Amino acid sequence: MPRRTKIVATLGPATDDLKVLTALIRAGADLVRINFSHGTAEDHARRVRLVHDAAKAAGRYVGILGDLSGPKIRIERFAAGPVTLVEGDEFALDAALDPSAGNAAEVGVAYKALPEDVAPGDTLLLNDGLIALEVRRAEGSRVVTRVVVGGELSDNKGLNKQGGGLSAGALTDKDRRDIRTAAELGVDYLAVSFVRDAADIGEARRLLQAAGGDGRIVAKIERSEAIDDLEHIVRAADAVMVARGDLGVEMGYAELTGLQKRMIRLARGRNRPVITATQMMESMIQNPVPTRAEVSDVANAVLDGTDAVMLSAETAVGRYPVKVVRAMAQVIEGAEKYQMTYRRDRTRIDGHFERTDEAIAAAVMFTANHLDVKAIVALTESGSTVLWMSRIRSDIPIYAFTRSERTRRRVTLYRGAYPIAFDVTHTDPAVLYPTIFDLLLELRLVEEGDLVIVTKGEFSGVSGGTNTMKILEVTRKG
Ligand code: PGA
Ligand code: MN
Repeated sequence: MPRRTKIVATLGPATDDLKVLTALIRAGADLVRINFSHGTAEDHARRVRLVHDAAKAAGRYVGILGDLSGPKIRIERFAAGPVTLVEGDEFALDAALDPSAGNAAEVGVAYKALPEDVAPGDTLLLNDGLIALEVRRAEGSRVVTRVVVGGELSDNKGLNKQGGGLSAGALTDKDRRDIRTAAELGVDYLAVSFVRDAADIGEARRLLQAAGGDGRIVAKIERSEAIDDLEHIVRAADAVMVARGDLGVEMGYAELTGLQKRMIRLARGRNRPVITATQMMESMIQNPVPTRAEVSDVANAVLDGTDAVMLSAETAVGRYPVKVVRAMAQVIEGAEKYQMTYRRDRTRIDGHFERTDEAIAAAVMFTANHLDVKAIVALTESGSTVLWMSRIRSDIPIYAFTRSERTRRRVTLYRGAYPIAFDVTHTDPAVLYPTIFDLLLELRLVEEGDLVIVTKGEFSGVSGGTNTMKILEVTRKG
C-alpha cells in the first residue's frame, strides 16, 4: 500500500544541491515550500529551477508551495550583539528608536501602532515564546514592560501578543511583491501568513491572478483572530495550514492539539486539503533520529486525517535533510498501518451534493470501501473529482490520470491521491480501458483480475464533467 499522507519539505541552504534535493524527493518529499521570509527573488527562482531538475531526475511530480512572510511583527537590532534579559527587570520596545541602537534596556520595533495595541497587563512574547514580557504602560512611541521570563535575545526576533490583537493587515508591501514573484515562478500553492479573515484570502487570490498566477490559496491559521473566524476563512481558501509555531505562541501551546484536530476535521468536511506544520521533527535539525515524542506527534497528525505534514528548519537548514524526510515517511507508514480501515465511513451520509461530479466521487468511495477494489482511476482535467474522493477516508489509492501537468503537481497534496500522466486519445471504450489497464500493470499498481473503479466524463478534456463510474476487472490486452 503506498504512503497516503504527504510530506512538504521547506527548501533552504541545506537543500541547495541537486544531489541532495534529488535524494530528498526520492526519500518522499511530495511538495516543497519556498519560504519568502528568507532569500531574494533570484534565490527563489534558482530553487524552483533546481526543483524541476531534481523532480525530473527522481522521476516524480513535486508540488511547489510559495509561503508569504506576512505581517510578522519583529523587533529591530542590537548595537553590540545579543543581550540577556533578566526576570524582573524593565525592558522597553520603542517604535521611534534607531533600528540598530538596541541594548539590554530597550530595542526598536518597526510596528508603529504597538503602543495603541497593548494595555497594561498584556503579555508580549518574543522569539516564539521563549521570552515573556508583561506590559506596564505605553507612553508615546514606547511600551515599557517587565521581564517575566528572561533569556538571550538577538536581532529581528518575532513579537506576538498572547491572545492575539496586534492588528497589522495580512498583506505587506513585501508580500505584494512576493506574490508577483510567486506568479512568475508558477507556484502550485500560495500560503498566506497571519490571515485575519476571509477578505485577506480574497485579496491574495486577486493579486495572484492579476499577476498571471493560477496557484491555489492556502490559509495559514496562526493568530487568534483566525480561530474566531475559521469557518469563513476555510471557505474562502482552497487549502488550510495548521501553523503551530505562531499559533502556539498566540493561543498558548496547551490549546494546540485540540485546535489541530478541530481544524483538520473542519477542513476535510469543507473539501479543503490541510497541512500540519512546525516542529514535527525539530530535534532532527541536529540529530539523525527523531525523539519518541516527535514520532508520536507525526503519527497523531496522520491519525487526525491531515493531508500533509510539513518540515521547516529540519530540511531548510538542518544537518540531515534527507534522513529527516525518510524518517518522516517511515513514521507515516507506521501510523497508517495501524489506522483502522474505513469500510463504514459515514462522511456525507446526511449531506447533500451540489454537483454531479461531487456525487460521483462520494459514490465511488462508498463502493470502493464496500467492495474488494484495488485502485481508483479518475480521468480528470482539474483534479476536483480527485480532491472530493480524497476527502472520504479509505485505504484504496486514487490515481489521478491527467494530461495537465499543473493538475499532476496540485494533487501531490491530496491524501491518498497520486498523479499519473495520461492523455485520452481514444474515447472508444474498447481502446480506452485496455490502455488504462496496461499502464496500471506496467507501473505494477494492480494485477490481472483485480477490480478497479474508473471515473470519467462524457467528453474528455472538459473540466468538471465527471458523470460516470465504471467497475472493471483488469485484463491484459488479448
Ligand atoms: P512559519 O509558519 O514557519 O512561516 O512561521 C508556520 C508556523 O508559524 O507554524
Ligand atoms: Mn508562522
